[in-house]
Amino acid sequence: MTDILTLNAGSSSLKFGLFELDNPGAEPVAQILGEIDRIGNGPHMRARSAAGAVLSDAPLSSEDAADHACALERVLELIARARPGAAIDAVGHRIVHGGPDHAVPVRLTPEVLDALARLEPLAPLHQPHNLAGVRAALAAFPQAVQVACFDTAFHRHHPWVNDTFGLPRAYYDKGVRRYGFHGLSYDYIAGRLTQIAPHLHAGRVIVAHLGNGASMCGMIGGRSIASSMGFSALDGLPMGTRCGQLDPGVVLYLMQHEGMGADEIADLLYRRSGLLGVSGLSHDMRELEAAGTDPAYQAIGYFVFRIRRELGGLSAALGGLDALVFCGGIGENSVHIRQKVCEGMGWIGMELDELRNRRGETVISTDLSRVRVLVIPTDEEIVIARAARDMLGQIG
Ligand code: AMP
Repeated sequence: MTDILTLNAGSSSLKFGLFELDNPGAEPVAQILGEIDRIGNGPHMRARSAAGAVLSDAPLSSEDAADHACALERVLELIARARPGAAIDAVGHRIVHGGPDHAVPVRLTPEVLDALARLEPLAPLHQPHNLAGVRAALAAFPQAVQVACFDTAFHRHHPWVNDTFGLPRAYYDKGVRRYGFHGLSYDYIAGRLTQIAPHLHAGRVIVAHLGNGASMCGMIGGRSIASSMGFSALDGLPMGTRCGQLDPGVVLYLMQHEGMGADEIADLLYRRSGLLGVSGLSHDMRELEAAGTDPAYQAIGYFVFRIRRELGGLSAALGGLDALVFCGGIGENSVHIRQKVCEGMGWIGMELDELRNRRGETVISTDLSRVRVLVIPTDEEIVIARAARDMLGQIG
């Protein structure tokens, strides 16, 4: 029996999974799944066993989960308590940025870790936390195989026009490109489509990953053609605290006329914008939906509007549309956002079935809708666990 630990460090959360592998070719089976959210700001730890038993559902003190490294210590304590015999043979890490060189998962060596640290400026909200998790796991499990699974990898074979900016070519050659992110989620959804709707998998599909981080990806035949995110995880849709698409002239204005420096602008664009910035209230969609105030409605309205614009743009990039898939915390749970996104989309051949949407069924379009609309819960953890299994298989 082999145990695999998966770590998925978001901007303020650490998701984790303990998977068991019966034999080298088997599907990893989740034993424990959990998350510490609101790290550093009222953290809470939830974990369940595969059988559904609650292993933890309790607030932590801010000191106990002050940052991602502390949070990992709490995770390891929980695993030691819940499965004293667990022997971790492999640790799979979600790493947000793999740069231009990584199109598949790689084994983490000191050299790879150094190279990934050099990409930190491209994803300052995530990459340092991801790598902190790697270092903590290396210290905790020095014998285990550690594998990096990149959010950018799924998009590495974008057509060139979706990979470049309109800048002098030298910048492209230096790596200033449209990378795209949330690749583990898109990889999972593409895989699920082969199981539940193979005819759609073969076609033109847009996946809307709507969570604290949000992006959309246009695929044909399960391969990424275009994505709303670009060079950094700032572009595209507005997110919990990130601005989404922004005229670069705004950044020049902030520098030249507001006297803001790079760090201040980074803080503004990554941490104080998006739903939080527009509403002035919260980055959290549940809180905004419950608030019922004008600024909250406006923030939701802007979020929906940008999703609809991307839907049109990505459909053009795909040459039409066969299916739209919602996933992520908002996409999987918000009846209201799904309804608003699909409203009046008859022109593209999309018709939502309100009852199916309210019930949260897998297919939420009407039987007559030419474009299928689906809700598929994403599972980045199993994608990471499979990559760790494959790496264990490769190195024997
Ligand atoms: P994620 O980053 O994928 O975990 O998604 C987090 C986002 O999903 C937050 O903005 C949550 O408020 C939102 N979310 C989770 N459940 C719901 C729900 N039932 N209705 C609306 N938004 C939700």
